[in-house]
Amino acid sequence: MASVVIIGGGAAGMFAAGTALRKGFDVTVIDKNEKPARKVMITGKGRCNLTNNCSDIDELIKNVASNPRFMYSAFSSFMPADTMALFESLGVKLKTERGNRVFPVSDKAADIVDALKKYASGAKYVVGQVEKFEYNEGRINAVVLKDGRIFRADSYILATGGASYSRTGSSGDGYKLARSIGHDVTRIKPSLVPLIIREGFCPLLQGLSLKNVTLSLYENGKSKPVYTELGEMLFTHFGVSGPLVLSASAHIKDFDKNSYKIVIDLKPALSVEQLDKRLCRDFSENSNKDFANSLNALLPKKLIPVIVSLSGIDATLKVNQITKAQRLALVKLLKNLTLTVADFQDIEQAVITSGGISVKQINPKTMGSKLYKNLYFAGEVIDVDAYTGGFNLQIAFSTSFAAANSLEV
Ligand SMILES: Cc1cc2nc3c(=O)[nH]c(=O)nc-3n(C[C@H](O)[C@H](O)[C@H](O)COP(=O)(O)OP(=O)(O)OC[C@H]3O[C@@H](n4cnc5c(N)ncnc54)[C@H](O)[C@@H]3O)c2cc1C
Repeated sequence: MASVVIIGGGAAGMFAAGTALRKGFDVTVIDKNEKPARKVMITGKGRCNLTNNCSDIDELIKNVASNPRFMYSAFSSFMPADTMALFESLGVKLKTERGNRVFPVSDKAADIVDALKKYASGAKYVVGQVEKFEYNEGRINAVVLKDGRIFRADSYILATGGASYSRTGSSGDGYKLARSIGHDVTRIKPSLVPLIIREGFCPLLQGLSLKNVTLSLYENGKSKPVYTELGEMLFTHFGVSGPLVLSASAHIKDFDKNSYKIVIDLKPALSVEQLDKRLCRDFSENSNKDFANSLNALLPKKLIPVIVSLSGIDATLKVNQITKAQRLALVKLLKNLTLTVADFQDIEQAVITSGGISVKQINPKTMGSKLYKNLYFAGEVIDVDAYTGGFNLQIAFSTSFAAANSLEV
């Protein structure tokens, strides 16, 4: 019976294990953790958005931020509908929410982990940290663990994940392992990550969550945004976070070469004219009040002192003394609250790692190494990452499926 050693028992590793078992392989999964798929437990805020219910391959590809074309073949062979059918066959009832996001009906990521364990039952699960490969002449001969144990197989799948949330076990080991045998690894950076903001007012807004705002991300002061979306965001002590911000971060390429600004439209449902009319109404109802006390109906309490200060209008000025120019400038501010992005938050806080093992040395049909005949890659360790919506786990499943179906027999 042909054998395979899978390095990493996360989403990709466990999925590859189950698929290889069904192809008749003797499967060994090696993971640092006593329990497999620890990162899956924290996905989707503990609910696990396991895929995106989208049947159009071009739509899938559009949601891959790095090296989308590389994913074409793997996605075509294993689509979201296949992921859903498989998990349902393993007893997990699924539901589709806004944006085609698929979750277990139970809202429990643990159910997805249990299903992965069920799928991979029959594989040997070894707890240990793989430290190096033994190799020669285009073949991997063995993996050596930190404690000295050696495991040999006919094929090997490297599925060690990215470099974020290292307490889950994914601490970037796969990059070192791949580099040590001559594979190129592209620059690693965080993606789907909170952003550090230069403006000093962010800490004053810490904890403030804004719903139904439009966030646009601009690169190098260009007039067309690289990202714009309506949704929810959050202010933190260091800057900004929340769904809109995480998604925007995936569009930031390089802080060394580019500069980035975030522009928040606090009132996207109102045009400039409509917002001006609304302000006129609020001002006429509060005409004898101080300016600082006139915005309660329009803005969350925490935001008012910041907007007042940014407007340049004296907080104690009576509303009936505000000029038209001042009012129009306030409208502009409310439609364009601008933040300068200083940096990504630490990679440790990132949902996904962008960068990884270069796709140039991986066959996109088989996920096989172009340098070693019996080595394959799966999941986040590869230089492919996607936007939010279940696409990253779908990448883990589709690449694992391709790898497990291409192993040497
Ligand atoms: C907070 C958070 C929320 C997320 N939510 C979603 C979501 O809702 N939907 C979605 O699609 N994606 C989500 N993701 C992304 C998704 O979790 C990953 O893309 C996915 O887990 C990648 O699978 P993987 O198997 O490649 O890596 P991982 O799941 O990270 O698994 C890698 C495994 O390799 C093991 N390992 C590493 N090095 C070694 C070594 N040297 N020896 C042995 N074992 C090793 C680790 O212990 C780990 O178990 C989320 C990520 C985070 C951090």
